[in-house]
Amino acid sequence: IDDKNEESDENQVFRSPIVTVMGHVDHGKTSLLDYIRSTNVIAGEAGGITQHIGAYHVTLDDGKDITFLDTPGHEAFTAMRARGAQITDIAIIIVAADDNVMPQTVEAINHASAAGVPIVFAINKIDKPGANPEKIKEELANMNYLVEEWGGKYQSHDISAKQGIGVEELLEKVLLEAEMLELKANPDKNATGTIIESSLDRGRGYVATLLVQSGTLNIGDIVLAGQYFGHVKAMFNERNQRIDEVGPAQPAIILGLNGAPQAGDKFNVMDSEREARNIANKREQLAREQGLRTQKH
Ligand code: GDP
Repeated sequence: IDDKNEESDENQVFRSPIVTVMGHVDHGKTSLLDYIRSTNVIAGEAGGITQHIGAYHVTLDDGKDITFLDTPGHEAFTAMRARGAQITDIAIIIVAADDNVMPQTVEAINHASAAGVPIVFAINKIDKPGANPEKIKEELANMNYLVEEWGGKYQSHDISAKQGIGVEELLEKVLLEAEMLELKANPDKNATGTIIESSLDRGRGYVATLLVQSGTLNIGDIVLAGQYFGHVKAMFNERNQRIDEVGPAQPAIILGLNGAPQAGDKFNVMDSEREARNIANKREQLAREQGLRTQKH
């Protein structure tokens, strides 16, 4: 099943792009994601999203949507790719303009390229006195990543994640890139997607943040995720509001699983609880036999 394009599927509709920010440590990933999450770049509710969750979804002033994966570093990206759950549509590679293209920048570029994920460059910290965005573009050109204003094919934008300069324009470029991808999914079927993070909450039990990639997830659905399963008891959006359903390319926090699946595990909605339990048990047994995930929850 190709969740990304579903070309054989008739009921597909356009969906939001799923975007990851990657780059060298201290170049501004967190600052950019925090700025987008918490400020008025985003239309709608003032104050933005206050809680930190592994994925969030924003609507820009023009009504267009972007879903961001907000995972520390790019480990999640690699882990998910390794599991064959390639969920990122576009990678923003952030480079500090007062520094250089660094080893982790190169690594991020290579990961995205290897996965066939389009790249948009964000040249950050242009508010700093020592910033030299042109030098970064030159370094990128030397790696054969020529940005558009230098006649190349890679979109890039100079930003200050701290002051919010250029962030809106950067997101517009991301949306332009997304339009070319013509991302679609079918909302009219059982949901499938990927677990972004999960944990045990003392009061609420197992809590999982997931991203629906196709179909629609509803309250009461039987979710099978990795070695665990359960009826969806409650769902919340990134604003901590209760929701009843979640469509393609949308994240949600769900309650009701009987354990904490791993980031990158795929999830499916099953028709029968018995079947879900059987598969979960088989997977657990298999993992135990392989001596991999022996940790019991
Ligand atoms: P990360 O490791 O890539 O997540 O980087 P952070 O977002 O944590 O940023 C590292 C440091 O750079 C922090 O002290 C930020 O305040 C600072 N920083 C990030 N973006 C900017 C920016 O646009 N301008 C300035 N002046 N500082 C920035």
